[in-house]
Amino acid sequence: MRQRGCRVYKLHDRISITITGTVQGVGFRPFVYRLARELRLTGHVANTSLGVIGEIQGQAGDVDEFIRRVVADAPAVAHIAGFDHQMIDPVPGETEFVIRESDPSTDKSVAILPDLATCPDCLAEINNPSDQRFQYPFTNCTNCGPRFSIINDIPYDRPNTEMRNFTMCPDCQGEYEDPGDRRFHAQPNACPVCGPRIGIDGHNATASGVVLDYCADIIRQGKILALKGIGGYQLLCDARNEAAVKELRRRKHREAKPFAVMFPNLACLQQYCSVNTEEIALLTSVVAPILLLYKKAGAGLATSVAPGNPCLGAMLPYSPLHHLLLGKFDFPVVCTSGNLHDEPIATSNAEARDKLTSIADDILSHNRSIARYVDDSVIRLTANGVQYLRRARGYAPAPHYHRRKLPNVLAVGAHFKNTIAISMGRQTVISQHIGDLSTPEAHNAFHAIVEDLPRLYDFTPEIVACDLHPDYLSSQFARNLNLPTVQVQHHHAHIASVMAEHALEGPVLGIAWDGTGLGSDGTVWGGEFLICEKGDFQRFASLRPFRLPGGDVAALEPRRSALGLLHTIGQPFHFAHGFEESELRLIEANLRQDINAPLTSSVGRLFDSVAALLGLGQVTAFEGQTAMKLEFAAHGRIGSPYPWGAGDVVDWAPMIAAIIADRDRGSSIESIAARFHGTLIEIMVAVARKSGLAEVALSGGCFQNKILYELGAKRLKEAGFKVYLPRQLPPNDGGISLGQVWVASWQY
Ligand code: ZN
Ligand code: ZN
Ligand code: FE
Repeated sequence: MRQRGCRVYKLHDRISITITGTVQGVGFRPFVYRLARELRLTGHVANTSLGVIGEIQGQAGDVDEFIRRVVADAPAVAHIAGFDHQMIDPVPGETEFVIRESDPSTDKSVAILPDLATCPDCLAEINNPSDQRFQYPFTNCTNCGPRFSIINDIPYDRPNTEMRNFTMCPDCQGEYEDPGDRRFHAQPNACPVCGPRIGIDGHNATASGVVLDYCADIIRQGKILALKGIGGYQLLCDARNEAAVKELRRRKHREAKPFAVMFPNLACLQQYCSVNTEEIALLTSVVAPILLLYKKAGAGLATSVAPGNPCLGAMLPYSPLHHLLLGKFDFPVVCTSGNLHDEPIATSNAEARDKLTSIADDILSHNRSIARYVDDSVIRLTANGVQYLRRARGYAPAPHYHRRKLPNVLAVGAHFKNTIAISMGRQTVISQHIGDLSTPEAHNAFHAIVEDLPRLYDFTPEIVACDLHPDYLSSQFARNLNLPTVQVQHHHAHIASVMAEHALEGPVLGIAWDGTGLGSDGTVWGGEFLICEKGDFQRFASLRPFRLPGGDVAALEPRRSALGLLHTIGQPFHFAHGFEESELRLIEANLRQDINAPLTSSVGRLFDSVAALLGLGQVTAFEGQTAMKLEFAAHGRIGSPYPWGAGDVVDWAPMIAAIIADRDRGSSIESIAARFHGTLIEIMVAVARKSGLAEVALSGGCFQNKILYELGAKRLKEAGFKVYLPRQLPPNDGGISLGQVWVASWQY
């Protein structure tokens, strides 16, 4: 933050102020207004697309006090990126301080705020039978409520939001205009008289209470309810009811991927999950994310909620509608995104009717539109602080601020867990989680967001950055823009994302471990040690490559990775892979003749192989499922490392031979898993030492593995390295777009 040096002001000095950052939609103007009034100052303040600007006039000491307190006492949800003030000529005879109408201008670099969870004041109102907002599901104020999910244009004013069609009643208008009120300039302000309403599709009930009782019964009866949430529809059912959860899985075509669960309150959550003070602070923050917590045994949650997983994605109600519905229960409900397998979430009432009637028994809708879909965010608390797994509601589109000015780059991300990013001057806005671009629907969602985000910020790209993989739909999109294009190698982008976060110019040793990404040599990478400096990288070392029979198919069939691994070192296929004799012969022939069996150095696939060799799973429902089983088997511990071959190529062959020998002599899976993790961590340390560099950055999907992320970082620190981790973005491909921006920014 820049601040001009202090100077002495004459009696009745006047200054102009410009405050940039996240200062709109957070009650900043009312705050400035109240402060000015308190200090007997005159002048004005307004929102512009630059940020908050104004002129302040008064006695010298009071003006100084204003300058101090406008920063020190700013609203908690505001983020001040810059504060400039300059002396200007006083205006004689001015007697008032006023808030002026917003002035739409051309530069839209001002930050848009994420959606904020219901604040305690609003919660008290909806639970108070004598309040006019009792049981009103759209209650909000300047401290809480929807933002990113309802905004259509900047500046953030009601006509530019999905509230434009609701005219405030005199009471709401009064609150909106009263600088002393909590709802002063609260753009989505509404009440039962004038605001949006809930309703059940195909039913006549309109009274909030009747609708909510009906919906609560649906869930109590073990049925499935679709609910229009903040950033899209969600699917709810009783999380204790095994039959209901199983039925939801069947209808949603989601076999095994864990479901998130919403608890009516913290006390209920504590019956089911272990949670510490820091985790409670995250759950009850304005973000109210899905937080991964350890389940308590025997608490009575249906097994199908998160099968075979010691953790649970837990959250608390974050909108009045969630509070009101969940308030009717003393048990948790599954709360998962309202979509068919792999498709984007339904956001409009028509889409819900079209896509969700086959999944939900009833649909709880309302008539406030959702401007864009925003999924629930998923995070967890680790020994290294908060780790983001999915960055969406509550976080997006909070910008990342750079130390230097970047050109206008549009980065389109990769393919899985995709996000896009746009950089404007010193800030980069990273989109909400988009998802995998595998289905036509997800691809449409990508197109919608890649059109939406630049439009919202009035952003014109000068450069487009994409993945090196030419077949990714995102890369194809980038090529068609006819702009200077920077293709960024996938693992380089993973590390560059961490470098951007920490403003590192390097050289730094990047350890990028994940499932898949196209390498500069045309093979599939994923076990990389890259020396990165500014926008360049060199491949310093990598895992010994092995063949992957079936290519992409292998991501869902760990047994294929294991076959490829064993083939590469000429070992027999002695494990319960479940292939028919004829299938096996074909795979062997393909491996020998190098047909549809690309080379990979992927650590993700190495995890799969070891899991398959240990019988933890041969075919999976989602990528990483068996790799997770291997992590869980280690119970957070590492064992003494197995031998491996050191060199520019890290040879896993001695380790695999030792693992097979351990398995055959009946060592426990727990101990093998712990030793496998221990080996990988020692490999990191050994290669880091060999690099001669002092700084190490870790990223890539494999660092969602808590043992690698926590103990890997710990061991590297103990070995004397300065370790940099993804802190504001996920280590998975959700962070790729920022890395692409960073790399492209060095080339222009
Ligand atoms: Zn509020
Ligand atoms: Zn009203
Ligand atoms: Fe990746």
